[in-house]
Amino acid sequence: MSRETLEFQAETRQLLQLMVHSIYSNKDIFLRELISNASDALDKLRIESLINKELQVDTDDLHIELEIDKDRRTLTVRDNGIGMSHEDVVSLIGTIAKSGTAELLRKLRETQDAGASQELIGQFGVGFYSTFMVADRVTLVTRKAGESQGTSWESAGEGTYEIETLEDAPQGTSVTLHLKPEDSEDQLFDYTADWKIREIVKRYSDFIAWPIRLGGAEAPINSMKALWARPRSEVSDAEYHEFYKHVSHDWTDPLETIHMKAEGTFEYEALLFVPARAPFDLFTRDGKRGVQLYVKRVFIMDDCEALIPQYLRFVKGVVDAHDLSLNISREILQQDRQIQAVRRRLVKKVLGTLKDIKTGDAEKYGAFWAEFGRPLKEGLLEDAENQDTLLELLRVTSTAAESTSLAEYVERMKDGQKDIYYMTGESRAMVEKSPHLEAFLAKGYEVLILTDPVDEVWVERVTEFEGKPLQSVAKGKVDLGESEIPPEQAADFAPLLTWLGTRLEDDVKEVRLTARLTTSAACIVGDEHDITPTLEKMYRAMGQ
Ligand code: ADP
Ligand code: MG
Repeated sequence: MSRETLEFQAETRQLLQLMVHSIYSNKDIFLRELISNASDALDKLRIESLINKELQVDTDDLHIELEIDKDRRTLTVRDNGIGMSHEDVVSLIGTIAKSGTAELLRKLRETQDAGASQELIGQFGVGFYSTFMVADRVTLVTRKAGESQGTSWESAGEGTYEIETLEDAPQGTSVTLHLKPEDSEDQLFDYTADWKIREIVKRYSDFIAWPIRLGGAEAPINSMKALWARPRSEVSDAEYHEFYKHVSHDWTDPLETIHMKAEGTFEYEALLFVPARAPFDLFTRDGKRGVQLYVKRVFIMDDCEALIPQYLRFVKGVVDAHDLSLNISREILQQDRQIQAVRRRLVKKVLGTLKDIKTGDAEKYGAFWAEFGRPLKEGLLEDAENQDTLLELLRVTSTAAESTSLAEYVERMKDGQKDIYYMTGESRAMVEKSPHLEAFLAKGYEVLILTDPVDEVWVERVTEFEGKPLQSVAKGKVDLGESEIPPEQAADFAPLLTWLGTRLEDDVKEVRLTARLTTSAACIVGDEHDITPTLEKMYRAMGQ
């Protein structure tokens, strides 16, 4: 294949425009992104060489090399990692496959505020494309391990890129940035200065497990110390935060850091983070779980589902277990009793930390809940063992409060009120209009308003909180004094009820006289065990 000029996908082009015109104020982080990619590529090659014995690669000196050319004003980041095939380059570098790209761009178009734009970009993290903040041309040369031909890619970050097959290229990837001339005068952006590069590496990439070398020297400029293996007292918040950004590909500082060490029969260290922002793909089917598995400092796998349950998929970080085989497979991990024990401890620790935040810092907890309340509620379906804790962590709205915990609701319960009342529905407005609420409001009872689709499901599963049953106001005979109907009145209405019952025979099971309504004439209630209208709609929409 000869040289081809290809167009960027429309969405990519728009993001590139934003990068070229640098809406992100901290340009230094482009180097963190390139080093992070190089480090991932080295991890992947090491794993691949373990799995695939046929692969003829030398893994003795895996490293990252930085090279400055002051005269040509270029900076090159080179790795001898897994590399990319021609197809990889087109699909990985030519398009942004990240879910939520369209959504991000829509939000970016809507906001005029530069600060808000930065925050959105930061939340999204644009990885490789951040190079266009500092370079007006980027060249990438790569060869995938095991393949004979290489690929070169070049772009000025405008509408197109050039791609070419190379007969000869070193295995791995090198990215060369042709630095923007306008930055040449400014010391702050002098990426051809050794000290500047050292400073950036120290600040953002010190913990990278592979040696980062500068200008052909042997000694690495990063300490390569695994952060999780260091005592907590010796690690600064800034270091934790940079590590978080490396493992999560997020550009925003985490909300909370959890660093733990277990000693005894099964030793491990865990460094986990609760992000400040939900990723765009939190609710997509193939959304990833964020915990990486290491064995004695050596990266084993991303997205280790054996270590963290689905509902805590937003937690990011690393678990380093000391007594596992380097060749351990996902299937074996799922069965491993010790891994199951680790998982149980991690879950308890994460939930415990969230509880501490809830008690100690209401505002921070509110911010957490706004981002991750929905996935956490899925825990009520998945994790019976921690149901009580999850119920303590729950926040919901009600007829009396914008946001309340169940414990606060119970405190406000009226004398003689035995149940925790709730109503599910599509929106707060719809629930508030419902005739089902009338009698409850008239009697001054507070009713929880549950409007997430997942609420419909967990209320079926959870029967009580602190000994108080959960009761839907839209179901069954709610005991609000239906016995208060005087017998004469019941007798008066009996013919009407019989007549209605016959007329509506095909549609309803029973027509009852009720005291639950105040202004409406009639309402439909479900049986205690019927599914709710919202759930019915949900199932119907799913084609069931
Ligand atoms: P992310 O790292 O979040 O996936 P990037 O934009 O940084 O996003 O990189 C996009 C993809 O390009 C990576 O996921 C990886 O597959 C590929 N890639 C980037 N740099 C390298 C590299 N040095 N070696 C191999 N593959 C790379
Ligand atoms: Mg990256």
